[in-house]
Amino acid sequence: MGQVAHKPDGTRTKHVPQRTCIACRRTDAKRGLIRLVRTPEGRIEVDTTGKRNGRGAYLCHDLACWDAAIKRRALERSLRAEPLTPENQHDLLAYRRGLTAAETHGANADTAEELPHDVRV
Ligand SMILES: [Zn+2]
Repeated sequence: MGQVAHKPDGTRTKHVPQRTCIACRRTDAKRGLIRLVRTPEGRIEVDTTGKRNGRGAYLCHDLACWDAAIKRRALERSLRAEPLTPENQHDLLAYRRGLTAAETHGANADTAEELPHDVRV
């Protein structure tokens, strides 16, 4: 009769949190993506612990996605944040470059201008 079944075929998935890269829309388990949060001050920072409070958005490890997210303002849209300051953009890209340096760990990063795990200024 008038009863609406919420789930057609009882797919009660014990759900592994899947996150979506805001640039390429690829989904992955939480660990495969990098979380970014909007701070109360309105900056967007990398959440290295994945546990910071606040609205979060995810990016995969693809450098192109970081570029795209910043250029297309996908981060701001996703986080409902103010437009990123050039300094904030710089910090995010510096973080991402740090990851690249860590991944290709033969190229000993001589660009030690910024520490990847210290994104705050
Ligand atoms: Zn991506």
